[in-house]
Amino acid sequence: MTYLSRRALCIAPYTAGEQPKDKSYIKLNTNENPYPPSPRVREVLKAFETDTLRLYPRPDADPLREAIARAEGVSPQNVFCGNGSDEVLALSFPAFFDEGGLPACFADLTYSFYEVFASFFGVNTHIVPLKEDFTFDLEGMLNADCAGYYLCNPNAPTGIALPLQTVEAFVSAAKEKGRVVIADEAYMDFFGESAVPLTKKYDNLLVVKTFSKSYSLAGIRCGYAVGDEELVSALFRMKDCFNSYPVDAVCQAVCAAAVEDKEYREKTCALVKSERERLRGELLSLGFTVPKSGANFLFAGRVKMSGEELYTALKREGVLVRFWNKPILKEFLRITVGTPAENDALLEKLKFILR
Ligand code: PMP
Repeated sequence: MTYLSRRALCIAPYTAGEQPKDKSYIKLNTNENPYPPSPRVREVLKAFETDTLRLYPRPDADPLREAIARAEGVSPQNVFCGNGSDEVLALSFPAFFDEGGLPACFADLTYSFYEVFASFFGVNTHIVPLKEDFTFDLEGMLNADCAGYYLCNPNAPTGIALPLQTVEAFVSAAKEKGRVVIADEAYMDFFGESAVPLTKKYDNLLVVKTFSKSYSLAGIRCGYAVGDEELVSALFRMKDCFNSYPVDAVCQAVCAAAVEDKEYREKTCALVKSERERLRGELLSLGFTVPKSGANFLFAGRVKMSGEELYTALKREGVLVRFWNKPILKEFLRITVGTPAENDALLEKLKFILR
């Protein structure tokens, strides 16, 4: 006897990166930004009128959408906000794919939440393996019989980024076939070739972004989508079947201030990017295979120890990285780029462990 639905009994949920509290770790496992958010965030929080929390927030996050629209050079009707980009991505499944209908297509090694969302919403999937060099098999994806695509760019966990020109060719080919493309640009600010401008030209493209990474606001939970009004309004309809007020009032105020501080974001992204290149160089010289990354993390492995052995040894030494016990992934670690001091500590521990 059980009180649970078949779905609750059977579904395999997404496993988020660990957030242990047992001791203080050098935390390079969940792609958080090592720098604090814009100083404007502190100002907004200090000035926040707590009495207003009595009231529900703006259901569609209008002032925040306007601030995002200004920053992205689009209209507010082209912007949708959610409680983290995970929620935006989740809502995109019922918005663009029919239960039991033509599948959603994505790579085998990509953000693993897509698979969970598809299963949760009863959406079929068509999985196309990455090529040997870990890049997307875009031709294979275009040849799939499907209703649309999830294209994580830069991809996670490999960090490999597609240039804008390649994305445009893909979106255009998908449009010819009447298919939607959801470009997950969670890490795009560390690469710098966002497909947002293409949303004006291609009504089949939805770009999803987050405040969690380049804005250093993972704790506030906000993400957004930019796209043609028809796609965006479908997300609103899905939201209003699920949660009318997903973006709380504090979050709306904080993110509006953060998105306006482009200069600060660019400064911290530049620091992360230069550390990424230094760290990659050091890992290569230690013998790791490390694809060139456009994100704030590196995919490093194929040394004399397995991913699991390295992960365990690093954890014992107080450094947390991400490891998955799955084919191919188990040969690698995903390492978030930290501050120079954190990266130095990681390298020192790795040298010690590999010796
Ligand atoms: N997309 C990708 C590729 C990610 O790695 C993450 C973070 N785990 C997200 C989306 C979701 O981020 P958030 O919900 O914090 O916006």
